[in-house]
Amino acid sequence: MHPFHWVPGDGARHASLDARPEGVFLHPTGAEVRTLCGLDVLADNSQLAWLWETCPECNAEAHRISARSTTSGRTR
Ligand SMILES: [Zn+2]
Repeated sequence: MHPFHWVPGDGARHASLDARPEGVFLHPTGAEVRTLCGLDVLADNSQLAWLWETCPECNAEAHRISARSTTSGRTR
């Protein structure tokens, strides 16, 4: 399980490290979320929002984070 998750908002699919409400897999629509690229966006969980393009900055940062967590998981 990666520490980040994807959240559509502001016209793109961003990734975020923000804590989600307990028991909720996705940020509810309208929740303010800090993204990996440093934006504060309002989450949008509509069907259409998930078809938005992935934010390139968040994508790059998400890859760095998952590479880190995979490495530390294997060394233990
Ligand atoms: Zn982003």
